[in-house]
Amino acid sequence: MSEYSGKNAVITGGSSGIGFATAELLVDAGARVVITGRSRATLDAAAERLGENALAVRSDVASLPDLDAVAARVRDGLGTVDALFVNAGITSATPFASTTEETFDESFAINVKGAFFTVQKLAPLLSTGAGVVLTTSAANVMGMLETSVYAAGKAALRSMARSLSRELLPRRIRVNAISPGPVDTGILENTMTKEAADQFKAERVAENPMGRFGTPEEVARAMAFLAFDATYTTGTELAVDGGITQL
Ligand code: NAD
Repeated sequence: MSEYSGKNAVITGGSSGIGFATAELLVDAGARVVITGRSRATLDAAAERLGENALAVRSDVASLPDLDAVAARVRDGLGTVDALFVNAGITSATPFASTTEETFDESFAINVKGAFFTVQKLAPLLSTGAGVVLTTSAANVMGMLETSVYAAGKAALRSMARSLSRELLPRRIRVNAISPGPVDTGILENTMTKEAADQFKAERVAENPMGRFGTPEEVARAMAFLAFDATYTTGTELAVDGGITQL
């Protein structure tokens, strides 16, 4: 029997990057997964690669009606959920002086409000002993240029891992955070020019103790560990960042 055979997982933002790598790891190990994302085309391509044990649901985490619809699809498709990966997120370069209200609101709507209500809407479906993993970022403990909005949102999420742990403890549900450092997933290119992304990447490699980016698969293994195997761990944040926030 595969390691996660009989387990059900939901991964927001599961059609690409870290979320997709986690879906792939879990499906390969026998789990059934529901992935969500905003782009139908990307979701369909991801679902095809993952095979019959994956269901793709188009949904915007910033929309509460969409989250209600995800919960209904998950209830019908999986029944209960053993692991919930609250992974959907966006980065936006936010130079302090020129950041607009619109950019600020979008970042918090997806990265903070979206995460909170994802957990709230799916909590009724979580099985006893289930694991919730919130994806934060190394940025939440660093003072990096042009990241004040993103970093503050991820710091809010790190805090939520503690409080939601307490809220869900009576049901023996654990809530932890995973904090990736630089991982080459294409997320930078979605919001920056190629030149800016290349420069940002070169700076991250230069400052990183391991001297490289992490891979989505390295983060996925840590995500699965926190969700399924870390049975005496709740409220924590695990850094998967080449040591940048630790050394
Ligand atoms: P990615 O862009 O490949 O993945 C982000 C996913 O979130 C995508 O599938 C996207 O469709 C989804 N998404 C974005 N907005 C959404 C919305 N409103 N509703 C539903 N889905 C939405 O990038 P990634 O690097 O795999 O990012 C995954 C998570 O890891 C994010 O939360 C990101 O902040 C975090 N993170 C990434 C890095 C990195 O270096 N890549 C570092 C630290 C933290």
